[in-house]
Amino acid sequence: MNFLEERIVKDGVVKEGNVLKVDSFLNHQMDINLLDMMGAEYKKRFAGKNINKILTIEASGIGIAAIVARHFNCPVVFAKKSKSINLEGEMYTAQVESFTHKNVNNVIVAKKFLTPEDHVLIIDDFLANGCALQGLIQIVNAAGATVEGIGIAIEKGFQPGGRMIRNMGYQLESLAIVDGMDAATGGITFRPQ
Ligand code: 5GP
Repeated sequence: MNFLEERIVKDGVVKEGNVLKVDSFLNHQMDINLLDMMGAEYKKRFAGKNINKILTIEASGIGIAAIVARHFNCPVVFAKKSKSINLEGEMYTAQVESFTHKNVNNVIVAKKFLTPEDHVLIIDDFLANGCALQGLIQIVNAAGATVEGIGIAIEKGFQPGGRMIRNMGYQLESLAIVDGMDAATGGITFRPQ
């Protein structure tokens, strides 16, 4: 097991409905040393890629992306969730269905922060059905920028997002891939990497 898998086993909590809670170290209280190790690992996995911007989505991606960005020495842009529908013009927009909240959000990025010169690493905490990533990829494409890779902390391999994104041809690096989890026993199985 790698450092993230070990931490998930130690502190993660399996909930009903295929939800894994990692709020004691990843997306509510954040263990900065752990995030720093994640940043170093992404830097290794995306070595040779010319990444000059990190893109994530509010809210839980932001903390991770900010620490990861130290390793790439580049800025972070986060897509904002917005209820407003009148966003044309200065913003790139995409619609994202939330896995955890079961609602649809408009997510927006100001055009001035994403341009055709940008080589983007997309970062997020979880990958489930892939809606969040599809929205972010759509925004990068609309800007004429390039997706150099996608770094996820925890992919739920029993949900379809990971396969879909890999089939689209992207380099997707998930530091932990959960292949199964059981709310009754709390048991978690990881895909060997
Ligand atoms: P997707 O769009 O891939 O279906 O879901 C990704 C988003 O849903 C992530 O940004 C994350 O915030 C949330 N999410 C999906 N599955 C889980 C989960 O098991 N636990 C937590 N805490 N968040 C999740």
